[in-house]
This record gives sequence, C-alpha cells and structure tokens, in this order.
Amino acid sequence: MPRPTDTPRRADTPRRTEAPGPADTPRRQRAQRRAGAFTGPAVTEAATRSCAAAAGDPALAKLTGAMAVCRICADRPLGAPLPHTPRPIFQISPTARIAICSQAPGNRAHMAGRPFFDPSGVRLRAWMGLSEATFYDPAQVAIIPMGFCFPGYDKAGGDLPPRTECRATWHDEVFAAMPSLRLLLCIGRYSLAYHLPETRRLSLTAIVGAWREIAERTAPRTVMALPHPSWRNNAWLKKNPWFEAEHLPDLRARIAAILAAPA
Ligand code: SF4
Repeated sequence: MPRPTDTPRRADTPRRTEAPGPADTPRRQRAQRRAGAFTGPAVTEAATRSCAAAAGDPALAKLTGAMAVCRICADRPLGAPLPHTPRPIFQISPTARIAICSQAPGNRAHMAGRPFFDPSGVRLRAWMGLSEATFYDPAQVAIIPMGFCFPGYDKAGGDLPPRTECRATWHDEVFAAMPSLRLLLCIGRYSLAYHLPETRRLSLTAIVGAWREIAERTAPRTVMALPHPSWRNNAWLKKNPWFEAEHLPDLRARIAAILAAPA
C-alpha cells in the first residue's frame, strides 16, 4: 500500500497557472495552430447529446443549454483569453449515476467534440469495465471536467490548467442539479481540490490508496480518486501494483452495482 509521504509524480502534479500563449515545441505549435484554425461547430457533439438528455428536466436543460454555448473565456476572461474558440465538452443528464470528474479536454477532444477521444479513454473504460456505448451514454455516465474547454498549451508544450472561470461559473450549480449521482471519479489535482479539498496536502498516491476510507466517508455520493489514465502514468502503475490488483476490481464492482440498481 502507498505511504502518505509518497511524492506525486510529474503527471500528477498540478501545472502552474500562466497565460495561454504559443507553445514552444514545434509539434505543440502546430497543434495550437490547428486548434486556433478549427472551424467546427461551437456546440460540440457531447454538449448536444447532453442537451437532448436533459430535455425532460427544465432546470438542468436550462443550465446545460447555457453551458453548451458558453464563451466566457473568450469574451469575459479572468486573465488572458482562450487562444481558440471555446468548444465546451461535457456529458450530463438528470439520470446519470456515475460522474467522471476530470481536468479539461485535450486538443484531440477539442477537435472531435467528444471527451476522452484518445488512448486515455480506452484505458479509462477498461479500468471502469464499461463498453464505449455505456461510457458515452449520458443517461448512465456523466463526464464533468473542471474546465469544459481545451485550455491551450503552456510554454513548455504541456496542457494549461483548467480555466478557473468554469469552476467559478458552473460547477456548484451542475453538481447540485444532478442528485442522481452516486459515484464521482476524480482524475487529477484540480478535480481533487474541488471534490476532496481536505486531501490537498496529500500526494495523489496516498489519496488513491485511501480509497476505502474516502469512499466510506463520502457516501452516499461516493468519491474515489484515480490517476490519469495517460501513458505518462505507466511508471506510476508499475510502482503501485495494488492499484490494478485491488483498487480496480473494487471500482468495477461498485460501478456494476450502481448501474444495475433499480432507478
Ligand atoms: S472553459 Fe468553461 S467558462 Fe471558459 S468558455 Fe469554456 S465553458 Fe465557458
């Protein structure tokens, strides 16, 4: 089991906030140019499906509709504006019982208008024991990142942190409007800071390792922490074999039981 003093690895460590700007690596510069030049519809596929799923709940429908066309980070940003057109990506419905509470979409998700549209999504679905159809079914699974829009790249070529405007504007209202949620899966430091603020002094390894205590304490809306399913965390997974041997079977059993329970 992990020790509370374990040092978070690079992929677990929150990046410092800095103004969006051109990334320094050629690959990231090209990716940022593609994001800036992208001319797809401002309302993403994920937001459109969420609006349809929320249609029967007037309060959530109104909220989802406003989130789908949000342009705060372009028109009234708290700092530098987004370096591309906002494309909010989230998956919400009045009936979802499980929420993936992640950081912010990456560039590939930004282009596709669909969350976890990359190998991380494949691994996350395997961790959760879910098919792609169930994972992308807003009636069953919500995906509520701390920032709904791709934030752009920092000068080192990494993704910037989730936009603070999003949390300040939407999150309290969204989670209050979804009383059906039974399990929140937190991925990343910004999500943990929002959903489990009392763990801010602990390493990610310690927080993930304490899943039984945290789940018991936070029930009936159970919160569990996960490392990011990115390949960047392969070394962390190798160093912490208890995660795949003990944590994931427990997680899959919880998810199966929640989805199978009668409404
Ligand atoms: S990141 Fe959030 S607050 Fe900013 S434009 Fe996108 S949806 Fe709006």
